[in-house]
Amino acid sequence: MADFLLKPEKTRLTHTFNPELSEDGNAGFDFLGHHIQQYPAGKYRSSKDSHGNILGFNTIITPTKKASKAHIEEIGRIIFKHRSSPQAALIKDLNPVIRGWTSYYSKSDAKSVGELQRQDNLTYLKLRRWAKRRCGNISDGHRKYWTTIGGDNWVFATRKGDANPLRLLNHSQFECSSTNYVKVKDDKSPYDGDLVYWSARMGAHPETPSRTAKLLKQQKGKCPHCGLLFRNEDVMEVDHIIPRAIGGKDDYKNLQLLHRHCHDVKTKADLTKIQEYELERLRQGKKPKSSRKKGKSPHDKETPE
Ligand SMILES: [Zn+2]
Repeated sequence: MADFLLKPEKTRLTHTFNPELSEDGNAGFDFLGHHIQQYPAGKYRSSKDSHGNILGFNTIITPTKKASKAHIEEIGRIIFKHRSSPQAALIKDLNPVIRGWTSYYSKSDAKSVGELQRQDNLTYLKLRRWAKRRCGNISDGHRKYWTTIGGDNWVFATRKGDANPLRLLNHSQFECSSTNYVKVKDDKSPYDGDLVYWSARMGAHPETPSRTAKLLKQQKGKCPHCGLLFRNEDVMEVDHIIPRAIGGKDDYKNLQLLHRHCHDVKTKADLTKIQEYELERLRQGKKPKSSRKKGKSPHDKETPE
């Protein structure tokens, strides 16, 4: 199957300002572990649309409650698993989880709404319990497992004398902002169920095949053939920019996502190019290239994985 169509029906649609207007009483919109909500804002703080008109709201993107809870639970599991391990082993296991989670939310407003600080506080409480359990009391625990590094007090780290001192990463040390990224189109409503737009902005949707998601993001949600943004109801196809029949490679640099109708137009043009190419090879006394690949059509309709 060469077609790929996003299925928006699993998306919960809500009104982003008013909980009472949404399907399930919650304001905002959850997507890929992000909660997207628009808040009413006064004239001076409000976002503006592309024509400079005041929109009367700001869009704030945060981790969902569920995603935040799952993360701190994972931290809890790791700390529990290492209840008898050396501190270094615990830090080595925690750091990639902290780094991974915060980088996933680096395009959100997790930092400015205090969510990263909250995760650090919750992590500290769990580590405190871990240390107390091992030392019998928390002041010994603090002395043994926390230290001062540079200007930072209370760093959970192995002692300075250690050959390889290791410190725990903080969630809040990571930069994080939805406005650092491709500016949210403020006139874009997150509750319109436009999974294509939000996929292009945030990366993979669980229902988006990985290659399609990557291409969507690379193309910023636009079809390079007609220059228009994809919409949910559009059928998209993966195209080889230089057809494989004339030597185009199967890598991201040579792939693009096109509307099906745009792909049809391009394929017709490609076929002409392929014919010219084959004729040229025949003139030079070479075998036609495309006929050597058995079972492959000479044009390059591709199945998104
Ligand atoms: Zn198109």
